[in-house]
Amino acid sequence: MVLTMTASESQHVLVTGGSGFIGSHLVDHLLQLGHRVDVVDDLSTGRLSNLEPLLSKHSDRLSFVHSDLSAWLVGAGSGSRFDAIYHLAAAVGVKLVVDDPISTIETNIMQTSAVLGHVTAHGIPLFIASTSEVYGKSDSIPFHEESDITFGPTSRSRWSYACSKAIDEYLGLAHAKRHGTPIVIARFFNTVGPRQVGTYGMVLPSFVHAALSGRPLQVYGDGEQSRCFCDVRDIVPVLPKMLANVECHGRVFNLGNDHSITINELARLVRDTLGSTSDIEKIPYDEAYAPGFEDLVARAPDLGRIREVLEFAPSVSLVQTIRDLAAIADLEGGAS
Ligand code: UDP
Repeated sequence: MVLTMTASESQHVLVTGGSGFIGSHLVDHLLQLGHRVDVVDDLSTGRLSNLEPLLSKHSDRLSFVHSDLSAWLVGAGSGSRFDAIYHLAAAVGVKLVVDDPISTIETNIMQTSAVLGHVTAHGIPLFIASTSEVYGKSDSIPFHEESDITFGPTSRSRWSYACSKAIDEYLGLAHAKRHGTPIVIARFFNTVGPRQVGTYGMVLPSFVHAALSGRPLQVYGDGEQSRCFCDVRDIVPVLPKMLANVECHGRVFNLGNDHSITINELARLVRDTLGSTSDIEKIPYDEAYAPGFEDLVARAPDLGRIREVLEFAPSVSLVQTIRDLAAIADLEGGAS
């Protein structure tokens, strides 16, 4: 039998992808809860600098392993027991996916499969980070977890990301059902916040960086596509609560903010919030990504399911997120 601990008991946890943007905020939160945290990260998109202050401050409770996750799980980590695993290691960013679909597909599916093998063998509760991209280009807004999903053709590499994360979800749900392991899956909707970088195409850090350096804010397409942005600091405290809640086990949940904004409005908000004089320019999708790129016109979460099982009310405003991103922007590094 698998015993699930309450969110407040001290635990020894593993965070895969813990040096990434969301992962490092989660590590920070887990340390604040008093847990001992191990991080395994291949640093493909994560940055060790995200963890360095935490490694200095909590050297007794935080450890970092630089490794490919699948290799680590069959090697040095094969016998490791944890009270919980948070699996955040994944290929991130639409731009990265379009540029390198093979590594996106292989990273996402093989690593998740390896983690699932480990947790089911040892009876370890597992949180899997998924993405709103899984809904594909569905137009039934807001997206509900039981809504149909609609992917474009396989000739458009963008959808390989959605498809690989959907396979991860199928695998997670099937293992939860077969082995009774507590597995929780959350689909993140456009998570933003400090430490997010524009390198992989994410819009908010790209806009903040451009606004601060006086370069034009590049709006792709006509800019009327809409998204719901949620600050990472509203997201990470919910994850241990979900893992500790039996009503979440074996299920998929939307997680994000349901306040919608168009990319044109976002560009103006960034410019106004930072008092920037940067221009806003339109770039055709073909030029921004690749010929034939398909974007989503709108994306918004239905938050009914998560709110049925626990309190979830995002409170960090987009203006606050923009200010905090700008405050630590790394203009030399070309990313914020
Ligand atoms: N986008 C943009 N300018 C940028 C980066 C992105 O206009 O510099 C657009 C992108 O085409 C999409 C939206 O902003 O319509 C959100 O993009 P992001 O990659 O942040 O997340 P997505 O919702 O595509 O996963």
